[in-house]
Amino acid sequence: MQTFSIKGENRISAVHVGECLSNVEKYLPDRPVVIITDENIAPLYQEHFPKAPVITIGTGEKNKILATVESVLEQLMALGCDRSWFILGIGGGIVCDLTGFAASIFLRGVPFAFVSTSLLSQVDASVGGKNGVNLSSYKNMAGVFSQPEFVICDISMLTTLPKEEIANGMAEIIKHGLIADETLVTFLESHAQKALNLDHDVLFRLVSDSVAIKSAIVQQDEKETGERRKLNFGHTLGHAAETLDPSGHGRAVAKGIHAACMLSCQLGLIDKKVVKRTDDLLRQCQLPANFSYPSDQVMKAVSKDKKRQGDSVYFVLLEAIGKACIRKISYDNLNHFIMDLCKESHIGML
Ligand code: NAD
Repeated sequence: MQTFSIKGENRISAVHVGECLSNVEKYLPDRPVVIITDENIAPLYQEHFPKAPVITIGTGEKNKILATVESVLEQLMALGCDRSWFILGIGGGIVCDLTGFAASIFLRGVPFAFVSTSLLSQVDASVGGKNGVNLSSYKNMAGVFSQPEFVICDISMLTTLPKEEIANGMAEIIKHGLIADETLVTFLESHAQKALNLDHDVLFRLVSDSVAIKSAIVQQDEKETGERRKLNFGHTLGHAAETLDPSGHGRAVAKGIHAACMLSCQLGLIDKKVVKRTDDLLRQCQLPANFSYPSDQVMKAVSKDKKRQGDSVYFVLLEAIGKACIRKISYDNLNHFIMDLCKESHIGML
């Protein structure tokens, strides 16, 4: 097991990579506990949950909304939950995002923690204290920064994850390597198949390396005023893709990574070989390396992006494998780029 800690404004968060769900009791404070999970996790793992009432939410982005939060808050009230209680989210990124948000606003804040069960949430969503929900299908538009007391990343739980969800998680690992650590990219290039085959040691290394990268960045800039923006690499156009085509967060991020590399190349920051190396790695991890949507719909979705500022957007680009930079890109320039990109991807697919 490896433990990372993030010193946030509201608390220090400990991320235990390789710890097991069955050991969660030893991290729980001496308080009444309530569990929030989803309808896939409950039947698979409920017998290993600590003894506590369970609130179960539906699955998918369609449930990561304020109406679900309201229903959860009402159920917390009905259980008699007060500030002396503790809320434990057990699930993937959707359960973690929604639990963290609900716990942070219920009675102006009840302490919470996660057992993170999907690869994507272990390497990204459960770590770093961003918790939020979607508004009108636009991603994460309502949310808070609030650190969980602890996160348990139980690698053995990944064995029940559907195959396509392993690939989804790989997209965020690739992102971490591309923005901060070329050795992680090189490791992925030679171990992608083992990861897809659920090799425990490979997954442990990928989760640990990702948590190390993310926690170091969050530690420097918890509220995303500078360095943390780099973690949004692939997400500006990735979120647009996810709004237009709900085929999974990781797949959408993969498309956004491809597009961000193409833009980095067009701006002369990287050469075509780097774009090809990234695309090859995405495909090796069973992820798409294309971006093809109607450009007006993409621009409409981008206009709702949280990284927008006036007529521009803070866009995360690549200067090299393992090195990201942030540039302000005007909507006009982005629009031209997207029109060209979508045309090229379309021709490439013919
Ligand atoms: P998810 O929570 O929908 O999980 C994917 C699917 O796998 C679900 O059907 C879930 O029930 C199932 N599942 C999870 N763990 C399982 C297990 N061990 N065995 C069997 N099935 C299991 O989605 P996700 O990919 O985990 O997370 C995506 C979400 O995370 C998106 O909403 C995204 O916006 C968010 N996210 C948040 C942050 C952040 O910093 N807060 C970062 C990245 C992504």
